[in-house]
Formats: sequence, structure tokens, C-alpha cells
Amino acid sequence: MIHVHSPSRSPTPFVPSTDHRLVLTSSKTLGGNPVFTWQDVVSDPANFKQPCKLAKNIPHSLQDYINRMDAWHRSLPGMRTVLEAAIGENTAEDEPNAPPISIVNNFDDEPCPPWEFYYTNFMWHDEGVPPPDMTGVKGCGCYPRCDPRNGSCSCLQKQRSWSGEFTPDFAYDSRGRLKYQNVPIFECNDMCGCDDDCRNRVVQHGRKCAVQIGKTKNKGWGVFAGPKKIYDGTFLGIYSGELLTEEVAEERGKKYNKFGRTYLFNLDFYFLREGKEKEEGKEEEWEPKYVVDAYHAGNFTRFLNHSCSPNARLNAVYINESNIDKPLLAIFACKDIEPGAEICFSYSGNYDDLEEQAERVVKGDAIYERCMCGAKNCTGTSIIVCILLVGLLNMAL
Ligand SMILES: [Zn+2]
Ligand SMILES: [Zn+2]
Ligand SMILES: [Zn+2]
Repeated sequence: MIHVHSPSRSPTPFVPSTDHRLVLTSSKTLGGNPVFTWQDVVSDPANFKQPCKLAKNIPHSLQDYINRMDAWHRSLPGMRTVLEAAIGENTAEDEPNAPPISIVNNFDDEPCPPWEFYYTNFMWHDEGVPPPDMTGVKGCGCYPRCDPRNGSCSCLQKQRSWSGEFTPDFAYDSRGRLKYQNVPIFECNDMCGCDDDCRNRVVQHGRKCAVQIGKTKNKGWGVFAGPKKIYDGTFLGIYSGELLTEEVAEERGKKYNKFGRTYLFNLDFYFLREGKEKEEGKEEEWEPKYVVDAYHAGNFTRFLNHSCSPNARLNAVYINESNIDKPLLAIFACKDIEPGAEICFSYSGNYDDLEEQAERVVKGDAIYERCMCGAKNCTGTSIIVCILLVGLLNMAL
């Protein structure tokens, strides 16, 4: 996925280059010139090759410069303005319509979170992680937009085939809010004929609601709703960062565990696990293939704190990607969130059964500390570092 979070479809996706040549097979002519139709273009997935950001190319000069400064300079109030500006600049291309992210601290003098990462909404592929695969992506021929009552829409058929009993139509309602949490979501893609305002295009348009990165009383930095209420089902952001193979992530996890902080998340969803079980009949041996690491690169979602009573959830979303092992981790509100309220999700997955959740946590090679989420059903321990070694992020229903 690479260009995962492309906010709007590129207006010129077919620029020929050495590795991306438009293949057209039209035999029609008009006035002696060849005539190409959308059907000609769609007939070859090679015309839709996606850009692939490589982890080795993550820009780092700015954060390196800041981190070389002494502590006094790093704590100057102006540092906040610089980080806010960097966030705006880094997302101007892929989230041009997103409300700017502001940084607030009502508790102490720290101007902004430690600037140890590159702010980005993209996925940066590490070695061994395949680029986005369009060969199995099918576009629907709907125009001007997909109709949830139109059974011939191939995107609707795909959504139903993966989650039929849960989602009789598209995952989103007409306002772009997620209707059904915890099912894989297949959005319309670059090969679809529908316009950008099709209801089945949400994550690809980026964040629409205002959020703030803010200091909390006793949980470090966190994420808060902006001045407007965020409604249940609203898309917040993708958990962006480096996309690693499981082997590389395991090595990194060992290091992160030593200093008590990690931003690793397995791409581990119940439907991936179940699919493998059906194939091989061996659930225990299933391992997620890829892991997102938001330590060196990421967006505001890397600051989301854990809650035992979360108001946001992770969902798997596919856009221009047919590799089922490489979903985007898309975060949606799962409750109405009042203006200024903290946004949290469960680090231990989307378990509704807290006992099962607690059991999985205990089994893990994780670092715990007293949970400060304050929820009535709080289990009292928070996994500060977890996930990687035991696949805790199993989004089982
Ligand atoms: Zn359609
Ligand atoms: Zn559509
Ligand atoms: Zn479509």
C-alpha cells in the first residue's frame, strides 16, 4: 500500500515512466489517431501501478537537527510552532483538506512531544515487504458513484463476500461514517469508474475531523478531539509508519522492550487468522506477516493512548492493494466523542470479552504499568509495550 492514504485519486495517474508505462490496446481510431477509452486503460492493472515509499528513504534531516540541539533549545515554546508547521507541510499533499493539527499542553512547560519521528500519513516499505499489488484489484464500472442497492457493483460484491452477514451493503453510510466495526473494508480504488464523492471512498480522502495532540495529566502525550464533536463511525487516521516483515519487527521489539516503549502493531486480524486456519487447519502456527512501526515515522495516531473503554477502534482497510496480508490499520471513532475529549483505543485488540483480553495480555512478553485510563471496567494493567511477540492485536470478534 504505499500510497495508502491517498486523499484523492491522483488526477494524472498514468504518467509514463521507465517503470510505469501506460499499456493501451485500443484498435479504434478517430481521424487517424488511436482512441483510448477508460475500458482500455482498466483492462491492464499495470496501468495502475502504485507509488511505493521505501523505509530507507524516510526523510530524517529535520528531526536529526532538532535532536542535536541541547535540552534548553528543544524546550523553547517556539518548538511547538515548528512541529505544527512541519505536520502541515508533510501532509499538504495527501491531506490537503484536513483541519490542521495543533499541539496543546496545559500541564507543564514541555512545548511538544519528543521530535523523534517523521510526520507522515504514508506507509514506508522496509526490505522484504512487497510493494502494493494491483493484479488482483478489480474496479467497478459504476458512474458517477456506487449505489448500495446496485448488486452489479463489483466493490459491493467484494464487501459482501467478506462480511455479508455483517454488512449487507457498503461499510459506510451516506455521510462516510463506518456502519459496521470490525469487518474488513474494501474501498473503491483507482480502477473504479466512480467519482471521488462515491460513498465507498473514505479513508483514501484522509482525515476530515479536527484533532489535537495534547499532554495528559498522567499518561504523557495523547490525542484529543478538536472543537467539534466527532460522531461514531468517523474516520480519524491510519496508523502510518514503517511496514516491516515480522522477523525485522521482532528484533526491533526486543530493543524497544528494553527502553519501555514501542510503536509496533501487528497486521493481525481475525479474518486473516481464520483464512489461514481454513487453509491449513493450524491456528497456533499462524503468524502475522507484516508489522507497522510508528517509531521513526508516523502521524498523530502514534500518540493515541490505551483505554479499557475505548472510543476508537482499528479496522482493516484495502484500497489499491490486493495483498490481503497488507491492510491499512484505519482508526475510526466507535462512540460519539465530545469536543476536547481524549481519543483512545485498546492496545490489546478489539476484544469485547475483557477476560479473554486479560488472559492474552498475561501470556504476552509485554511491559506493563498501572493503567490510568480511568474506565469503569479498567483491568488495572496497561500494556505499554506489547503486541509484537505474541500477536496481541488479534481483532477477534
Ligand atoms: Zn461500484
Ligand atoms: Zn465507488
Ligand atoms: Zn468501486
